[in-house]
Amino acid sequence: MTALQRKGTPMIRRFLSSFLVLALLATAAGPKKLPKPGFNLFSVEQDIQMGQEYAKQVEQQFKVVTNKELTDYINRIGQRLVQRGGLEGYPFFFKVVHQDSINAFALPGGPMYVHTGLITAVDSEGELAGVLAHELSHVVLRHGTNQASKQNLIQLPAMLAGMMAGGGMVGQLAQLGIGLGSNSVLMKFSRGAESDADLLGLHTMSKAGYDPLDMARMFEKLDAAAGGGNSKVQEFFSSHPNPGNRVKAMEQEVQYLPKRSIDPPSGDLQRMKKAVQSLGPAPKQGQGGGGQAQGGPPPTADRMPDIRPASRMKQFRGGGVSFDYPENWQVANGQNSATIAPPEGVVQGQGGSAVGFGIMVGAAQPKSGQVDLRRDTEQLLKAFAQGNTGMKLEAQPSELTVGGSRALATRLSSPSPYPNERETDVVITIDRGNAVYYMVFIAPQSQWSRLEPMYQSVTKSVRFQ
Ligand code: ZN
Repeated sequence: MTALQRKGTPMIRRFLSSFLVLALLATAAGPKKLPKPGFNLFSVEQDIQMGQEYAKQVEQQFKVVTNKELTDYINRIGQRLVQRGGLEGYPFFFKVVHQDSINAFALPGGPMYVHTGLITAVDSEGELAGVLAHELSHVVLRHGTNQASKQNLIQLPAMLAGMMAGGGMVGQLAQLGIGLGSNSVLMKFSRGAESDADLLGLHTMSKAGYDPLDMARMFEKLDAAAGGGNSKVQEFFSSHPNPGNRVKAMEQEVQYLPKRSIDPPSGDLQRMKKAVQSLGPAPKQGQGGGGQAQGGPPPTADRMPDIRPASRMKQFRGGGVSFDYPENWQVANGQNSATIAPPEGVVQGQGGSAVGFGIMVGAAQPKSGQVDLRRDTEQLLKAFAQGNTGMKLEAQPSELTVGGSRALATRLSSPSPYPNERETDVVITIDRGNAVYYMVFIAPQSQWSRLEPMYQSVTKSVRFQ
């Protein structure tokens, strides 16, 4: 079922003008000025909230290493860069994930994940710190949300303005096609962002008592590995493209850095490499394996995901109603409605995002002020039919009671966003006196019988306040 589109045209001109200003400021020569965060529609708090929500996804998909020695080591390096480098202001944390690829990635707002493959590949702690300093710079310069802001000038302001504090951000972003996939606008950095992260990273290294040239050496090594066809660095370069002459630009910049003393090496690295070896082979695909970089590609409509709702339920509360939903599904709040769906059940269909699996809820007020359930249900179904061509009534409305109120259940079918599928849409309309509360339960027809029992228990759990 197609989600309603929002209009926001008056915003365009204003944002375009701030764009031009940014473009003019972007060129500079000589010892470069330290970069600053650019244009952004997100607040810093929203960066942080988003990162924390994505971190939960990451930790379901990757095997987080619990070895205390390794985790402490990465945190020592990370915190040293943050504190001595003057990057405070975000709740940074550093975790190791068991992955062979030579990579590390940071989410907006601070969570950072270092692959065991990176620890294996470096020849000094400074090289490892160099990659972390580069990643930290992306966080502090807010590159992910800067890029997302620039690409979603029209839809983002309305979405962010309507966002309720305390959760569901990832689900709403998914509706705009923003996710953690390897091609995500949040994680695939522009060449300009790369240069800026290199520059701030070098300064950070130097302030933290590392040799900034170690960072240049690491990128040189990564470049050489990529040039030699080493597939272990593919993930890193798909997120962090070489801005051109990267190593040379770094070496040049190092000459302009204030001369600072370099701390003697801690001598811990060899022990850490042994600790990585003791973990055994890294998981490949599937459970805890990640497989795809950073949480897999964003959902597209060309394949149907295998949706398995968690049996544990969470409570939705809002708009004077509460009900239970599977805890691995996410809430996206609209203006007078909400979508509760598994992240991979919201896909980019023709003309916007479409819910392939999920529940849409909302309320509508009849013009007369008093609900006539049959009449208003008919009105609502007409409105749905307008946004969903090919929608068919499968069964006449039947009466039931939901949350102590009179209700009608109507079974419809419509084209699914997945290929060669139609979907079942069961619309429940509930008489709340002066408003009709509605819930639409959506699943492809071939999957309906698997989802139906859960949808029934959701309906049974509805309570009005
Ligand atoms: Zn980068």
